[in-house]
Amino acid sequence: MTTGIGTKCIQEGWKPAQGDPRQLPICQSTTFKYDTSDAMGKLFDLEADGYFYTRLQNPTNDAVAAKICALEGGEAAMLTASGQAANFFAVFNICETGGHFISSSSIYGGTYNLFGVTMKKMGIECTFVDQELPEEELAKYFRPNTKAVFGETITNPTVSVFDIEKFARLAHSHGVPLIVDNTFATPVNCRPFEWGADIVTHSTTKYMDGHGAAVGGCIVDSGNFNWLEHAEKFPGLTTPDPSYHGITYAERFGRGAYITKATAQLMRDLGPIQSPQNAFYLNLGLESLHVRMQRHCESALAVAKFLSGHEKVAWVHYAGLESDSYHALAEKYMPNGTCGVLAFGVKGGRSAAIEFMDRLKLVSIVTHVADAKTCLLHPASHTHRQMTDEQLAEAGVDADLIRLSVGLEDVNDIIEDLKQALA
Ligand SMILES: *Cc1c(COP(=O)(O)O)cnc(C)c1O
Repeated sequence: MTTGIGTKCIQEGWKPAQGDPRQLPICQSTTFKYDTSDAMGKLFDLEADGYFYTRLQNPTNDAVAAKICALEGGEAAMLTASGQAANFFAVFNICETGGHFISSSSIYGGTYNLFGVTMKKMGIECTFVDQELPEEELAKYFRPNTKAVFGETITNPTVSVFDIEKFARLAHSHGVPLIVDNTFATPVNCRPFEWGADIVTHSTTKYMDGHGAAVGGCIVDSGNFNWLEHAEKFPGLTTPDPSYHGITYAERFGRGAYITKATAQLMRDLGPIQSPQNAFYLNLGLESLHVRMQRHCESALAVAKFLSGHEKVAWVHYAGLESDSYHALAEKYMPNGTCGVLAFGVKGGRSAAIEFMDRLKLVSIVTHVADAKTCLLHPASHTHRQMTDEQLAEAGVDADLIRLSVGLEDVNDIIEDLKQALA
């Protein structure tokens, strides 16, 4: 029985038969052997299931994708080389040149560039919206060529909570799917499909791997969105694909159409596959995800409480705090905890933040987040350092904002380090 989320973390995915290796084998092979030309031909026609080239599919990757699919409660899933590749594919699979989509403006900086700059060069337009706007205001941003809505369960780096049900209602009433990047919450703490999201993406680089070892991504489809009902919006899924002998994905593959198309067409042509070796590391991380998330949340809450009571701290954002403006939404979508990331500001702005960071001994300054080692980043000095305080305010990032990712060390040691640096 694999009903509990922790049991799924360990038991889903690789299901060894009698005499098979107990741990997931790494299929370190680019290609797969067939006895007849006809058997191989059927694979190329998508008429038979099977492996032929690792750029399209690999058994190690598929087992790990199946585990993440089970954790999210989805229909089908695929791994990608990175979270960036996952978010690009998730949108590009249904939104081509001339298309438009809507994204929350509170998202990871890399995704913001991808949507606002790089995809724009491909003729795809993204409108960024303030996710706190009421539904009737948000509805005004939909256009006849709008193909999707995008947001992050917990936003990076501002750690706001995305109102999944509100955006699912909006997306569905306009005949388009809701895509949710669930990287920070992970399916241990939030399963967006249960709240109406249609597609979920992950940077598995973060908590899923959990040890800062391997960059990776994943896309999971709930299978719930009915492409044929909105056929005119999604011709890529509902009209014949000339590069696959005229297959119409939504007709042939039903609930599996979206991931089949992303694999057979996008992965085939663009190629950002995850290496089977990295998929193996990811699987190791997933086996302890439920245990680690619980600890990340407990420690982050203790750190958030410590910081909010400290005289040199100007403000703290952590939805786990009862005083936080996102606490009610977090209680609804993530009753067991949010994640280990919090944001705070020290009194004295940019220069005080720099002095504080330079005094830290245990907590390290790195461009990373959401793994076992406690780390922090100061956007105004690092990722956004070319910006003035005014430009930062426009981007929604305060000059004093420090993003702290609480790791798995003894929480007292983390707090002691913060305490001595603040002093
Ligand atoms: C890191 C991150 C990404 C990008 O993932 P990579 O694996 O670094 O490509 C996307 N979304 C969120 C929320 C992230 O934190």
